[in-house]
Amino acid sequence: MADYRFALEKGGRKVPCPACKRIRFVPYIDTYTGEPVASEVGRCDREDSCGYHLTPSEYFYMTGKNPFSTPRPARKPQTEPEPEQPSFIDTEIMRASMTGYNQNNHCRWLCSVFGEQKAFDLTAVYKIGTSKHWPGSCVFWQIDRDGKIRTGKIMLYDSLTGRRVIKPFPHVNWVHKVMKIEPYTLQQCLFGEHLLSLDGEKPVAIVESEKTAIVASGFIPEYVWLATAGKHNLNTDKLKSLCGRKVTLYPDLMAFDKWKVIADRVPGVTVSDLLERRASEADRAAGLDLVDYLLRENRQTA
Ligand SMILES: [Zn+2]
Repeated sequence: MADYRFALEKGGRKVPCPACKRIRFVPYIDTYTGEPVASEVGRCDREDSCGYHLTPSEYFYMTGKNPFSTPRPARKPQTEPEPEQPSFIDTEIMRASMTGYNQNNHCRWLCSVFGEQKAFDLTAVYKIGTSKHWPGSCVFWQIDRDGKIRTGKIMLYDSLTGRRVIKPFPHVNWVHKVMKIEPYTLQQCLFGEHLLSLDGEKPVAIVESEKTAIVASGFIPEYVWLATAGKHNLNTDKLKSLCGRKVTLYPDLMAFDKWKVIADRVPGVTVSDLLERRASEADRAAGLDLVDYLLRENRQTA
């Protein structure tokens, strides 16, 4: 659509007509300033009985005034869409979820790995919630560096094995969807991003799954462990936002090549080939991830 500078005022407001004096006159507006062009510039809507219509170009021709003496304001034209801002979830909703841990399968499994005290500490640090969406399910809140909550990912784990429940379907959902918050602009951040400001000096390690970040944090607390919350959620922008930190990626076996390509584009980011080097054929077939490896190593040394 053409971007006309002068237009009949929208919204139905009418003023007295300079010809017939009835309140049926629609003025022309200068869209640069939002002001009427002049009191006599406009159209009377009594087309049959009055018919008064003076356009801006007729007015400028008649008066010799130069409409272009008004500079175009610096603001962006309204036709250009603003960059989309992420939606957020109220902090109180997250707080209300941080309870009921005896019903939370992920937390129960974590207790079997680390003992109750350490499991609850890790759960508190990562602000893991409990969800009623499926009995036993948990919420991995994505809290950005400003402490704003981008969303929560609801997942169900087996409390004995610590594995995701994927049958008869993968048990994954989003808090903003379950709560039917619409419209919602989802812009995911890294899981655990809120921990970056707490530990400004620690190097950063990035894994794929939330569970892996939490468990690795329990075994190797010298790093701030973050998760991409999905194989495909790693990109150069998310890595560039960690600029100035020492960053190591720990991809799952299946994602090594893809993550390497992304890491190579960002200075200061390295990719660990720990799993690539240590994995046996059987491990590869079983889709071994860092959690399995850490559990195995730590049981052997215990
Ligand atoms: Zn009139």
